[in-house]
Amino acid sequence: MRISVFALLLLPGCLSAQVTALKIGHLVNPENGTVAANQVVLIENGKFTAIGTNVPIPSSATQIDLSQYYVSPGLVDAHNHLALTYKDEPEHNSYYLTTVMDSTAIRAIQAVSNGITMMNAGFTMVRDLGNNGNYADTALRVAIEQGWVPGPTIINSGIIIGGFGGQFYPVPERESLIEPEYLNADTNDEIVKAVRRNILYGAKVIKICVDCKPYGYTADEMRLFISEAAKAGLKVAGHVQTHAGALRAIDAGIWSVEHSGALDDETHKLMAKKGIWRVGTETPFTSYHTNTPGAKQRFDRQVEGMKNAYANHVNMAFSTDADYYIPGMDRGQVVIDFLKSWQAAQIPAPEILKIMTVNGYKVSDLYEKRGLIKVGFPADLIAVRGNPLEDLDTLRDVRFVMKDGIFFKKDGVMVPGPFFHSGPVPPSAWRIH
Ligand SMILES: [Zn+2]
Repeated sequence: MRISVFALLLLPGCLSAQVTALKIGHLVNPENGTVAANQVVLIENGKFTAIGTNVPIPSSATQIDLSQYYVSPGLVDAHNHLALTYKDEPEHNSYYLTTVMDSTAIRAIQAVSNGITMMNAGFTMVRDLGNNGNYADTALRVAIEQGWVPGPTIINSGIIIGGFGGQFYPVPERESLIEPEYLNADTNDEIVKAVRRNILYGAKVIKICVDCKPYGYTADEMRLFISEAAKAGLKVAGHVQTHAGALRAIDAGIWSVEHSGALDDETHKLMAKKGIWRVGTETPFTSYHTNTPGAKQRFDRQVEGMKNAYANHVNMAFSTDADYYIPGMDRGQVVIDFLKSWQAAQIPAPEILKIMTVNGYKVSDLYEKRGLIKVGFPADLIAVRGNPLEDLDTLRDVRFVMKDGIFFKKDGVMVPGPFFHSGPVPPSAWRIH
């Protein structure tokens, strides 16, 4: 492959070899629940190059004083839909309206805005699991990776693959509504083709409807999904809504079970045994829908499920399924408010912080590459006023956010760094690698 000198000049690493030095009062390690005092962190070319107490600061370095703050790795929402916002309450299934009324183009722009609010709330990584029109999620990921717009690291699924109809129930006259929200795949050939289609159009994880219809996928069909996705190094996330579907997905060895409504003590034990991720998406917003009968009972049931999963040592991920609008709140504020569910489950704060960070990188399959504050890793981090190992609510007021060594927020105010390049779409934008 030929690459022009002009293209090389556009590579971020060539922009500057400037060193940034962060003076950190309290550096939180969520892996072991410890805090190191008075640390210096050096960043060059978007990566951590030195971390410690006695790190000399080069005289030419840009110095940032975070000595009053607790600094943590960035947060992860393991299940979101950045290019989807319901036009009405979710109970009314109004994302049919989104499909009919919102173009993929407008949804992609909305996704940029949602991504910015996620960063503002401290979320530097998001698994974006479908319902994004015609690959608005890939467009968002590429725009962020190219530095055109600020936003979290995106692990996107492309289009959700399901048995005929996906999660939709169209009338025969409106069958085309299924697309672009779902890829129909009812036979082995169609399963292989649908996985390949998503990979070609930029998916980083494969999302399937395990049991959205009575003709849900068998364990063998899911094994086919898993083996086909693995050829491109991708994992398979399964939307699960029935106990039988959960058992089949666990039997197949799926990477993650999305949603927790169908999970119980039996499935939790099996998931723990196999190390399958539980991406529970327990919403505290049942209480917002005060007219919904049984809202409190639903919330309590979710919390009991979280307690059971935690007691059974299931791999748990902080996740929201946020795809709706709560008046007065942006997407990032909606997402961080899911702390309520975790706090109600009385899981210890250090464990919740680990779930929101370390487990997020793991379920995103980026644990070895991104997230932790480690030499050689991309420079992503957040700062808050209090110790999140003791008081998680301090995460509701993120004061500082950095991603890839670029400031996004300082002193509680968004100050996006040099994101806004006006360069061309790179030839690799839609390529697999
Ligand atoms: Zn979802």
